Amino acid sequence: MDNILDRAKAIQEEIVAIRRDIHAHPEMGHQEVRTSKLIAETLQKYGVDKIETPTPTSVVATITGKAAKGDGLKCVALRTDIDALGIQEETGLDFASTVPNMMHACGHDMHCAMMLGNAKLLTSMRDQFGGTVKLIFQHSEDTFPGGSRELVAEGVMKGVDAILGLHVISSENEKCGTIGIKDGPITTSADEYEFVVTGPGGHGSMPNKVPDPILAAAEIIVMLQQVQARAVPPLDASIIMMNKIQGGHAPNIIADKVTMVGNARAYKAEVRKIIEETVYKVARGVEEISGCKVQVNATFGYDPCFNDPGLYSSVLPNLKKVLGEEKVEIFAEPMAFSEDFSFYSTLTGVPALFLLMEAGNLNGVQPLHNAQVTFNEDALPYGITTMVSSALMLLGNR
Ligand SMILES: [Zn+2]
Ligand SMILES: [Zn+2]
Repeated sequence: MDNILDRAKAIQEEIVAIRRDIHAHPEMGHQEVRTSKLIAETLQKYGVDKIETPTPTSVVATITGKAAKGDGLKCVALRTDIDALGIQEETGLDFASTVPNMMHACGHDMHCAMMLGNAKLLTSMRDQFGGTVKLIFQHSEDTFPGGSRELVAEGVMKGVDAILGLHVISSENEKCGTIGIKDGPITTSADEYEFVVTGPGGHGSMPNKVPDPILAAAEIIVMLQQVQARAVPPLDASIIMMNKIQGGHAPNIIADKVTMVGNARAYKAEVRKIIEETVYKVARGVEEISGCKVQVNATFGYDPCFNDPGLYSSVLPNLKKVLGEEKVEIFAEPMAFSEDFSFYSTLTGVPALFLLMEAGNLNGVQPLHNAQVTFNEDALPYGITTMVSSALMLLGNR
């Protein structure tokens, strides 16, 4: 049986059972004790060459082929995340979360089960490839600061020539199993900016004597619109908005403090830098004109993911071949969320490719992180085929 999609379909029942087990027992970032134990035990059963636990709740497996080495890469890494979210599940599924206020609402249960499917196929196909595939089961994607930086620091990218990741999205069932691929920018950075605007406070009758933090905060909000309107090149996208604001005491008292916090996103490191520089310019300008003190506290989150053009152009035709043209869609637009998959590449320089899979639904299309989001398990073999066939192709074996 040489067709990878057929092989993946043949193990679907087993992979569905694993997925449902993980779905029913979600664990949040850094607490994935049961999940990582299940992963390690399953990998052991499948007979991978090496199982490592670089952090308490992450698992890395290595599988080396026995065929003569082709002329491709020496080592390809495949990454899944394994953590859940603090959401009360409302899907009504038979295998719904058994843990209150915790749910696999980002599809990481699907990712994790598919990665175990990859392990099962690759261990049974050692005679068909040379080179090494590394399977990274990463903890804590959805809980900041994300597990990928820890894994890079632990050395999981040593010797890796390319890394692939895949994320499911809920979709129409006609599209179930369709792989979305795009070169260049694919997910955004995600940063937080907090402004603390302070003055001495005073009587409402003395606006000429007492600096007004509320007016200053309003000016900051409006001036931040300059980021997209004037600072960022017109064809690049950026988001910066204040989403929480607090301050003031009473109608006749000039406020002494306003605190506001918001988020900023960009697809390019250069644009992210422009946002940062403009934020500080705005703060200094408003400080000057208002007489208030403006303090900025920045928290830098995940880097934007950038899909390597070389990986894109070799993986795309291969996917069309193994999945069929109709199961591959070139995405014109990047996704509007952020992912710590980015750090495997930005911290090491290793080329990366992050794919999307339209995974159908059981009760309507819902966004990720929604209490009612569901996926169609018929998508699973397509994700497995995508990862396994791309890895083998990049190793130069097929
Ligand atoms: Zn998520
Ligand atoms: Zn996710």
